Amino acid sequence: VEEVKRKDEGLWRLSKLSVPVHNDPGKDFLGISEGLLEAIAKVLEFPVPTMLPQEVFSVVRKSFDARKQLKEPKFVYTVDMDVQKLLKLQPRTWDFISQLEPKIGAIEHMPSEKVFDDLIHVIRDCKHRRSVNGSNEVGPKVYSGKPVNATFFRKPKVAVVGSGPAGLFASLVLAEFGADVTLIERGEAVEQRGRDIGALIARRLLSSESNFCFGEGGAGTWSDGKLVTRIGRNSDSVQAIMKTLVHFGAPEKILVDGKPHLGTDKLIPLLRNFRQHLQSLGVNIQFGTRLDDLIIQDSQIVGIKCSDARDGCHSDTRNLMFDRVILAVGHSARDVYRMLLHHNVNLMPKDFSVGLRVEHPQELINSIQYSSLASEVRDGRGKVPVADYKVVKYVNEENVEPTNTSGELNRSCYSFCMCPGGQVVLTSTDPSELCINGMSFSRRASKWANSALVVTVSLQDFGALECHGPLAGVEFQREFERRAAIMGGGNFVVPVQTVTDFLDNKLSSKSLPTSSYRLGVKASNLHELFPPHITQALQHSLLKFNKELPGFICEDALLHGVETRTSSAVQILRDGDTYESTSVRRLYPIGEGAGYAGGIMSAAVDGMYCGFAVAKELNLYEGDV
Ligand code: FAD
Repeated sequence: VEEVKRKDEGLWRLSKLSVPVHNDPGKDFLGISEGLLEAIAKVLEFPVPTMLPQEVFSVVRKSFDARKQLKEPKFVYTVDMDVQKLLKLQPRTWDFISQLEPKIGAIEHMPSEKVFDDLIHVIRDCKHRRSVNGSNEVGPKVYSGKPVNATFFRKPKVAVVGSGPAGLFASLVLAEFGADVTLIERGEAVEQRGRDIGALIARRLLSSESNFCFGEGGAGTWSDGKLVTRIGRNSDSVQAIMKTLVHFGAPEKILVDGKPHLGTDKLIPLLRNFRQHLQSLGVNIQFGTRLDDLIIQDSQIVGIKCSDARDGCHSDTRNLMFDRVILAVGHSARDVYRMLLHHNVNLMPKDFSVGLRVEHPQELINSIQYSSLASEVRDGRGKVPVADYKVVKYVNEENVEPTNTSGELNRSCYSFCMCPGGQVVLTSTDPSELCINGMSFSRRASKWANSALVVTVSLQDFGALECHGPLAGVEFQREFERRAAIMGGGNFVVPVQTVTDFLDNKLSSKSLPTSSYRLGVKASNLHELFPPHITQALQHSLLKFNKELPGFICEDALLHGVETRTSSAVQILRDGDTYESTSVRRLYPIGEGAGYAGGIMSAAVDGMYCGFAVAKELNLYEGDV
């Protein structure tokens, strides 16, 4: 009975429980429905589903599966069953349980939740202290760490630069362990950042410091808030992050949802709560403050130079001294890369991907994915989730189908950061460059579906820019961003082409399909954007996507240029265990900008582990990392 694994003596885990859509209350219901009881009874070989008491089961995961090869779309559940409780409440299941007992799988490795315990225990402790004090104030924490590193006669001072997921989680862990944390962020807090983004959309005013990439919460705040990661959904670290997000206000269903996402409207209040918690721990958060330089003595960092980062505000540089500096600046802080290079910090160019963002009517994607069930989507309020897609294919240099004999596959093409019911947004940080990405709100109710359509690029592609050293990839990105800005004609207007015209290499002359992009689009020939081999790879990928999603190539599909910042083009080298830079001591490069993460969850996990590593190194924490 492969679907049943022993979690421990009293708890069994039942997985791959399928419930057809017509038998399920829908995507938002996370309880034990009659349909699910039927699926459970089938696995347990128990004849009367209604005799199984609902209270002994709890849903661990719920996903929607609408793959074409299925006869019927279905919800797929993982459920935990409390065997002792079941036998107490329903002794007649004993026969079935005892028959199953010898057949069930060995004890499945369940997350020990150790990391989460370490992280959240202190948070709970704080909550407890709050209620004992009868006030919401948690007074300054008396430093009570383990015997302090001999060099410290005070709390160790740590600067965390960047308030994206990596910086926030590093700050949280270190503050919880008693470090004196200062969080430096060039952008604004979410309230002001919202106004800056509003000014961009309504009046085309781009603040170079507070925008879709820079500001509280980092690049992921005005995003789709997808919380999926390749690290593994059940890993300790991912669970720790998820539970912490719930603690700060994310809906509990993210713990169960097979494809959890938040949406911008849920992320903003969550970040506000996160900020208040950090401040209650004594974290000094400085928004509108930019790291300009590092103060290094004898290959060891001793402080940073900062200045006010508000547009039109020119302050003198301030020197701030710290014992440790965590660099979590994301992949759009190109000025930081240049500064690091100036200090001979070890940087390496890294593969990434470039391409275009393709947008379709959401209804079309619903019907491609769900056929007749598409009517159940109902703008995100229906029984089944708004349809998404994820396609990964390979193309070789000649753009012919790879064969086993010729072997080498040298470019993958894939959909990336797909935003169902979302909109295309401007992620430029400099008005002379133009790049885009996608965001959505929690209900994913817009009438468009957008996704990046990208191909991998490596040193082979940008090697010609070797005069830029390790920043050759960054220059490669910039070249296309500048070209896109010029093709759009300025004012953040985005160059577009229908998918069919892109395949035919001709300018779209008929009226264009509508676009969710709010700053205007201009018909252009996107073949003029990339070198021919990248353009051909993109054309080839569209054909492959269409095979998997028939109807993907259509008159209503619009390509937007340019998608360049899929991940960092640089890696800042660090020690695998200590997270410390290999060239400058006491500097800790983390997150996406340092080349160690590729999304909200992986950046948060990297930040959390770095927080533990630094806390350990400072003798604030004794456990394993
Ligand atoms: P960032 O989030 O980039 O944070 C870096 C922070 O450092 C920024 O706030 C920046 O202002 C600050 N900073 C930079 N330089 C300095 C300086 N010199 N001084 C002070 N502060 C500085 N990922 C997903 O997993 N799911 C999604 O749905 C998703 N959607 C996205 C949508 C959009 C529009 C964008 C742009 C990205 C999206 N991503 C998504 C990617 C995700 O946002 C990033 O992978 C993630 O935010 C990286 O986290 P980070 O902490 O490493 O860096």
